[in-house]
Amino acid sequence: MQTVTLETVETATGLGTEEISNAKAWDTAHVMMTYSRQPAQFVRGAGARLYDADGREYLDLLSGIAVCSVGHCHPYLTKALQEQAGTLLHVSNIYLTEPQARLARRLVELSDFERVFFCNSGAEANEAALKIARKFGRTTGGELKTGIITADNSFHGRTIATITATGQPKYSRDFAPLPAGFSYVPFNDIDALRAAVNRDTAAILLEPVQGEGGIRPATLGYLRAARELADQHGALLIFDEVQTGVGRTGTLWAYQRYGIVPDIMTLAKGLGGGIPIGACLARGAAAETLKPGDHGSTFAGNPLAATAANAVLDILADEHLTDNARRVGAHLITRLAELQGKYPQILGGVRGLGLMLGIEVRNGAARKIVAAALEAGLVLNATGDDTLRLLPPLTLTTAEADEAMARLEKAILEISPEGRKG
Ligand SMILES: *Cc1c(COP(=O)(O)O)cnc(C)c1O
Repeated sequence: MQTVTLETVETATGLGTEEISNAKAWDTAHVMMTYSRQPAQFVRGAGARLYDADGREYLDLLSGIAVCSVGHCHPYLTKALQEQAGTLLHVSNIYLTEPQARLARRLVELSDFERVFFCNSGAEANEAALKIARKFGRTTGGELKTGIITADNSFHGRTIATITATGQPKYSRDFAPLPAGFSYVPFNDIDALRAAVNRDTAAILLEPVQGEGGIRPATLGYLRAARELADQHGALLIFDEVQTGVGRTGTLWAYQRYGIVPDIMTLAKGLGGGIPIGACLARGAAAETLKPGDHGSTFAGNPLAATAANAVLDILADEHLTDNARRVGAHLITRLAELQGKYPQILGGVRGLGLMLGIEVRNGAARKIVAAALEAGLVLNATGDDTLRLLPPLTLTTAEADEAMARLEKAILEISPEGRKG
């Protein structure tokens, strides 16, 4: 493992040893305790690698939960941000700015949508979609046409409306009363969806691949049925592509892998490569629903954030990263299946598309493996106790994938020295 000395870290970050150790105490004392922190403090990143305060090197198969889509500190993205930071950061959406207009044009040209609403996060992108759905329903079908159908086990964000849309009660239980008009169906169950949709449905909101819910791809039949049911009942079909979008599944947007075009698509995570930006894209009547005064956001799509997203789109195209996601994703699936064959008491099946992969872990040991992997120089995470989640940068090479799998095997042997079969 390549090591970096503390001097290198200090030079690169301007942090001294004292600040590095103080940060943990400051965090514990003064940051609201909404996260259970992993025991590592990263100070620098390059490509698929992260470096911690002690100068240890890690392979990053999480990329900030699908955010650092082009890897850490990609030189092209860094340069674009440096130039924009010295030119214009922000002026307000009262004025148009070229980077935002350019980004909207490119997103529309690269997709099946006609207009974009910019925001700063995934939850906000879904809020925009829900507001469009409600206004669209009320305008086309009267004041009862406001129902939003989402799937069990889904995840759509942390605002009051998006925890309500999220089909996992643990996220919303303590925050009642919740907005009315949401209902839930089992994912990938066509009959249940058919039974739930009616003339009062404003929208069906689905993730093409459930992310937080454990990397569960929708079946083609399910998304096709959702499209047909939405059309039959005059409802909108919304795909939450906050995690699946921007090349993650091996096509630019996951809906393209299925060939099912929704009316609205929401984006965030990988779009800015690490700079916060979200987007809600719509076509047809959904694209024309919001009028001046209906919605807005102070920071959204400012010149810096839009420049980041424009740079990410450049890199995706120049480096053929959607192809890379498919190729390296397939390679990882093969390697994970080999590990599963070697350690069947520990690992179960592999699920996913492109570089959005989940591995089942037996006996609820997912978090134990995550901790052991961190020790072995590998960053990944767990959704629940039973699934390891891999969301590497789309720039990951097969050599880096192999190196990561060697570290994963080390972690497996660490938690279960007798893990090897026979
Ligand atoms: C992460 C995520 C969100 C929420 O995004 P934030 O930027 O955290 O608000 C919404 N939907 C999906 C599918 C996500 O993966």
